Amino acid sequence: MRILLVEDEVGLAEAVGAILKAQGYTADLAFDGEQGLKKALAADYDCIILDIMLPKMNGLDVLSYLRVREIETPVLLLTAKSELDDKISGLDCGADDYLTKPFETGELLARIRALTRRRGMAVESGKRFGDIILDIKKGELTCGANSVILGRKEVQMLELMISNAGGLVTKEMFVKNVWGYDDDSEYNNVEVYISFLRKKLAILHSKVNIKTRRGIGYCLEDGGSL
Ligand code: CA
Repeated sequence: MRILLVEDEVGLAEAVGAILKAQGYTADLAFDGEQGLKKALAADYDCIILDIMLPKMNGLDVLSYLRVREIETPVLLLTAKSELDDKISGLDCGADDYLTKPFETGELLARIRALTRRRGMAVESGKRFGDIILDIKKGELTCGANSVILGRKEVQMLELMISNAGGLVTKEMFVKNVWGYDDDSEYNNVEVYISFLRKKLAILHSKVNIKTRRGIGYCLEDGGSL
C-alpha cells in the first residue's frame, strides 16, 4: 500500500509518515500543494491524505485538479476546522472522507483502512431496488433514461441500504460500514450524505424514497410498488 501525505506542518507530516511506515505502508511526503499534486500525478497511490490549508496551492484545488483528470484515488482531507461548509465544499470537490485536526493515530489508521479496503475488492456491479440501478464500480445511479454520478460515500451508503432492502439501516451501521470507525462525531455526516442521496433521487425522478426513522436510522421505500 502506497500513501501520499500532503501536509505543510513538517513535524506532523514526519510523525504521521513514521506511523504509516511502522504499519507497513510506503509513505511519500509532500509539504505544499504544488509538490503534492506533482507526486499524485506521477505515481499510483492507494490513498492520498491531503491537508486543506497548504502553501502554493490549497488542498481543495489539488483535489479538484485530480478529479478533473479522472484520478480516483481515495482522498482523506485533513482540516483544522470542523465546519459543515468546509466539509460540503470538500465533498463537492470529490473527497472521500474527512479528518479534523487534531486526530488520534488510531482514527487515522482506521480511516485509511476503510478507504483502501474497497479498492482491492472486486465489486459486483449493478444493484437494483425499485426503479433504480446502482452501478457500484462506476459509481453511477440510473433510473430509466437518467443517470447521475455518486460520490464514493454515497455509493457505499446506498449499497448498504439496498442490501438491507426495506430494512432499517441505523446510523451506527452507516458509520461502522462506511467510515470504518465508530465515532459519534460522524453521525451528522450520515445526515449530510442522506440529504445528498435524496437530492440525486429527486433529480432522477425516482419513486424510491429514503424514509427517516427519527433518531434510529433510514430505510429505502419503493414508492412505485404501492
Ligand atoms: Ca496546513
